Amino acid sequence: MVKTKINVLLVLLISLSGIAQNNNSDAPIKLKSIKKSVHHLASDALEGRKTGTAGIEKAAVYIEKFFKKNNIKPYFKTYRDTFNIEGGIIGYNIVGYIEGNDSKLKNEFVILGGHYDHIGTAPAVEGDVIANGANDDASGTVAVMEWAKYFNETKSNKRSILFTLYAAEEMGLLGSTHLAQRLKAENLDLYTMINFEMIGVPRNPDQSMAYITGYDLSNMGEKLNVYAEQKLLGYLEKAKAYNLFKRSDNYPFYQAFHVPAQAISTFDFANFEYYHHVDDEPDKIDYQHMTSFINKMIPALEGMINAPTKEIKLHE
Ligand SMILES: [Zn+2]
Repeated sequence: MVKTKINVLLVLLISLSGIAQNNNSDAPIKLKSIKKSVHHLASDALEGRKTGTAGIEKAAVYIEKFFKKNNIKPYFKTYRDTFNIEGGIIGYNIVGYIEGNDSKLKNEFVILGGHYDHIGTAPAVEGDVIANGANDDASGTVAVMEWAKYFNETKSNKRSILFTLYAAEEMGLLGSTHLAQRLKAENLDLYTMINFEMIGVPRNPDQSMAYITGYDLSNMGEKLNVYAEQKLLGYLEKAKAYNLFKRSDNYPFYQAFHVPAQAISTFDFANFEYYHHVDDEPDKIDYQHMTSFINKMIPALEGMINAPTKEIKLHE
């Protein structure tokens, strides 16, 4: 009797865990697709994606093909927003576009971004010099690519969205500075910009899953949590101490437009020891975490993109 009861219990537990797994695999954005893109972008063949090299060109082509395959339109004539860098180097931001489905709100834009460049090489460890940049920032790049695919499939965005992948972030935010100024010159009605940096490794479970830089600058963190119906985003003291708000591709948009333009990350200085290190490789990424984060952000993004008025505001 006892044995039978235990068996029944076991069967019950196994079927419950099956349901949990099924729920997970029902999430619209899949681990397999995320993993494939991270592995490609951070492979040795791309030589650390330094701006101006053959390696980053391969990354640019990969992102363009992904956009094309998923029917994401280019915002400009092509996907490339081209800019010149000292020393004859040419940089390309990749910009995809999905028009909003609301006749009025589509004139307002939300920009999602990450940088697809990296630093090329770093000090050798056991003969390896390629800084693959899996977490920094293939992770953010792939998140933006996957959201582009998602919004193309669902057409659930009232506002228009630009999906932007930047070059030359590592050279001093050159790509994002160029695009921000270009869009400002054409008078884009920018509502918000969110930059995703290093989202490939989880934080301690007792902390918020991610944090937002410039937390006190606007109500963006609070509003995104309301839309997500959970505390997805928190405040990180170190982000303020290191002034991370000004150290990535959101900042040029804040400067040019003076709107909420902030970065979201899960790298908190305690959970990843391979920043700008040759071991920032695809096998250091936690794909369960990354997939979970990317899916959990969807209602937060939809809440922001579809809000009837510009609810996210600077505190000033
Ligand atoms: Zn970065």
